[in-house]
Amino acid sequence: MTEDFLGRCRAIVGAASVLTADAEMAPYLTDWRGRFTGRARAVLLPATLEQVAQLVAACAGARVPIVPQGGRTGLVLGSVPDASGAAVVLSMRRLNRILDIDTVNRTITVEAGAILQQIQDAAAQAGLLFPLSLAAEGSCTIGGNLSTNAGGTAVLRYGNTRDLCLGLQVVTPAGEVWDGLRGLRKDNTGYALRDLFIGAEGTLGVITAAVLKLYPQPKASTTALVAMDSPESALALLSLVQDGCGSSLTAYELMSDFCLRLVGEHFPHLPRPFARSHAQYALLEVSSSESEAHAVGLLEGAIEAALEGGLADDAVVATSIAQSTSLWQLREHIPLAQASAGKNIKHDVSLPISQIAAFIAATDAALAAAFPGCQVVCFGHLGDGNLHYNVAPMAGVAHEDFLVNQAAINRIVHDKVAAFDGSISAEHGIGALKRDELQRYKDPVELNMMRAIKGALDPLGIMNPGKIL
Ligand SMILES: Cc1cc2nc3c(=O)[nH]c(=O)nc-3n(C[C@H](O)[C@H](O)[C@H](O)COP(=O)(O)OP(=O)(O)OC[C@H]3O[C@@H](n4cnc5c(N)ncnc54)[C@H](O)[C@@H]3O)c2cc1C
Repeated sequence: MTEDFLGRCRAIVGAASVLTADAEMAPYLTDWRGRFTGRARAVLLPATLEQVAQLVAACAGARVPIVPQGGRTGLVLGSVPDASGAAVVLSMRRLNRILDIDTVNRTITVEAGAILQQIQDAAAQAGLLFPLSLAAEGSCTIGGNLSTNAGGTAVLRYGNTRDLCLGLQVVTPAGEVWDGLRGLRKDNTGYALRDLFIGAEGTLGVITAAVLKLYPQPKASTTALVAMDSPESALALLSLVQDGCGSSLTAYELMSDFCLRLVGEHFPHLPRPFARSHAQYALLEVSSSESEAHAVGLLEGAIEAALEGGLADDAVVATSIAQSTSLWQLREHIPLAQASAGKNIKHDVSLPISQIAAFIAATDAALAAAFPGCQVVCFGHLGDGNLHYNVAPMAGVAHEDFLVNQAAINRIVHDKVAAFDGSISAEHGIGALKRDELQRYKDPVELNMMRAIKGALDPLGIMNPGKIL
């Protein structure tokens, strides 16, 4: 049966685009962080919509599970197959064309395998902005961004990937093509099917193309790093800056002193903006459609008010693009510094913004009681209510040894998230990694509706089985 099936796949895409040798498949089977390597019957490399549709129909006919894959930068084991070797990996990387840019409708139409940076560049060449931005943008695909509803650094101003998408083209689990490539900002014609596929992590169908929103390029943007004594002050400053800068505030990131010390230890060439340590730091970015002077004026006005009101202890406002880049590098190097330090226990959580300081205090205390001396690496997109709340071992304990506490630590952190009405996955998704946690924390009625949708759209259960549900 396997040979018949693979023969059918070869007839559709050509033998060179059906990989079955272990060495050829290897780059598609291990997750980004190297935590898990799955097995697959084959890796399929379609280059057109028709090939995707025919391959999916062939899989449905032979009951072969499909794992859609984009850039493989996902962080929850969603884009790699399980260990059974039953599934095929459907790599979307060859469907990577920019199909259209409409500067009047302010939209760009792209194939799902287009790399995020390629889309940003195409928009910029047309004098417009595609605002989705994340550290994996040189490798991740828009199909993966849509399927995980990725967030990133500009959610505060522009929303997450769902907010940036107007239309989708999808190959259904039966191999039919749904052409929903519409560039409409208003379309109230029944169920919002587009929104079902966004964030579905490849469990409901294969996204093959999308119509995305474009925005005016800001004339200028400026960055500041503000030091303060507590998460409470960071929240008060966020309100103050939102009142003062309105929608010009494009990013508001929080970093604890421990995060910056870790970055300093592992990347000593990066700047140390302040003469002494402070408990917390906020990285702010303000952009303006008028001028650089306008952006700087907005930001400096808000920071002066914060310093005068005692919310901030100190601040650095970037005076050049190079300085702005180096302030952002401090934030972007936190995950890299953590990786250099060794494995740690990661959580990507979201909370009502007003509850964040209380959540941090309560969770820090619960962890300190259960694991005295453990170190919390807490940073994130505070303006979106999204924290990366990671836990590293106490001094003298090997990082690998500390991982035996993963389940107990997840329980402490996720119970607190639930107690504060938060979510156990803010932007990375569920994949295979958080599937059991989802069962524990999601409303049973909500879970039943999700299962009903999955059963209706994918009755054979071939789309990315074992992920989310
Ligand atoms: C360094 C780094 C920084 C990151 N920063 C952020 C961040 O700031 N914010 C954030 O939200 N995320 C972040 N991520 C994780 C983020 O989810 C991914 O980077 C990105 O959205 C996934 O895109 P991808 O093409 O790599 O998808 P993959 O990893 O290949 O796939 C992700 C999921 O989508 C499914 N999928 C992929 N393509 C399709 C398709 N065409 N149709 C249907 N299903 C599909 C897969 O089956 C899988 O379940 C980061 C990751 C890294 C490595």
